[in-house]
Amino acid sequence: MLACNSICAAINQPKRKMPSDKLSILQTPCAPCIVLLIIRVLKDVQFSDFGKKMSGEAGILSLMDDMGKALAGNRPLAMFGGGNPAHIPAVTAAFKQSLHDILADENRLLAMLGNYDTPQGNEAFIATVRDFFNRRYSWNITAENIAITPGSQAGFFMLFNLLAGRSPEGGKKILFPLVPEYIGYVDQALEPDCFVSRRPEIEKVGDHEFKYRVDFDALHLNDDIAAICVSRPTNPSGNVVTDEELEHLAALAIENDIPLLVDNAYGLPFPGIVTAAAQPNWNDHIVHSFSLSKIGLPSSRVGIFVGPAELMRALTSANAIMNLANPSFGQYLARRLIEDDEILRISEAYIKPYYFERADKMRELITDHFPADLPWRLHAYEGSYFFWLWLEDARRSSKDLYGYLKERGVIIVPGEYFFPGQDVSEWSHAHECLRLNFARPDAELQAGIPLLAEAIRYAYV
Ligand code: PLP
Repeated sequence: MLACNSICAAINQPKRKMPSDKLSILQTPCAPCIVLLIIRVLKDVQFSDFGKKMSGEAGILSLMDDMGKALAGNRPLAMFGGGNPAHIPAVTAAFKQSLHDILADENRLLAMLGNYDTPQGNEAFIATVRDFFNRRYSWNITAENIAITPGSQAGFFMLFNLLAGRSPEGGKKILFPLVPEYIGYVDQALEPDCFVSRRPEIEKVGDHEFKYRVDFDALHLNDDIAAICVSRPTNPSGNVVTDEELEHLAALAIENDIPLLVDNAYGLPFPGIVTAAAQPNWNDHIVHSFSLSKIGLPSSRVGIFVGPAELMRALTSANAIMNLANPSFGQYLARRLIEDDEILRISEAYIKPYYFERADKMRELITDHFPADLPWRLHAYEGSYFFWLWLEDARRSSKDLYGYLKERGVIIVPGEYFFPGQDVSEWSHAHECLRLNFARPDAELQAGIPLLAEAIRYAYV
């Protein structure tokens, strides 16, 4: 049997085909060899444009990769990068109770484990969701206004590509009325130039705070806009588009006969991680998305979309093509919680207080450690798990700071990935911001914030 080293040598020979006799199943290459082999094989694949896009260096990929690596082994001192939801004991207890009830009911258990649901979603779950929104907000929706997807991420991928791209009326685009916006949207359009966005008004508050506002003066909609999209609260900035701003956007959507997509992943009504008294309104030009992920069920992959019936039918059809059916587990698990409003009670009593307490803790440490003499600013915290730090006129970019901090065991996300529809090379603000997940244990906050403070000093040297 050949030693693994020989295979390594063969693999590492540039542009030389590996002799087939050396690939005999009797030879067992070591793990790094296998990785090299896969990379070599992938390099030889002739990808389509779609393949190139999907296998490229997407922002979301590098984010998940860093998170994955950090959680898999080289545990950093402070993981301020990703956005895994917290495991809150009282919330876990509610999920356990639901699971227990399902396990005690053989029919439900078998249906959950062994049946394909329709691509629109589980019928009973959809009825529960419909009743929930009608009861809570008097939206007067029917089952036809609802589509379930395997997570809201997949739902947005389908919606963006259903609406934007080539069409008989010309190229259509998604408009983000305020950036920064969610990193996960950035690589989702299959055709180039499908995203446009507007820079926000920046309101400075005191010495170390700021807030973004939609710049309605800059928001002229041409015929090529297929939909408007906002996350509320916004990941990464923690900004909550106000009720007034949302009404204004909804009016623009009606005027232009296009949908307004509102991503409530962290927002109302569950998990409800918002400080502002915001209201979610609905009309037949609004598509709301909700997710079970941030209440603590990210692996169940359940996205809930409420919108105009025709668009929800198209979403269901795309879902059938892409996924055949939705994962049943989360829909079965969450149905009782939505049916009796327990999802609101756990959001209000446990989830929201948990994140607000973590936000207070990080803010306290920031106030204690960040250099008061330098012009750093945090975006006003209005919701989500994140703080958005702006280092105005810093001499080092957020990417430099990412490298500097990573070497010291602190993971953050550089800001420039969060600007879909902008040429970030032309806007220094995009390179001056970084995102921090504050929902980390005390030990990480205490270890990481002093190092962040050092990074701020380094940024201005
Ligand atoms: N929207 C926002 C703003 C997010 O931050 C996320 C995930 O982090 C998603 C959507 C996707 O969530 P999921 O696909 O888990 O429902």
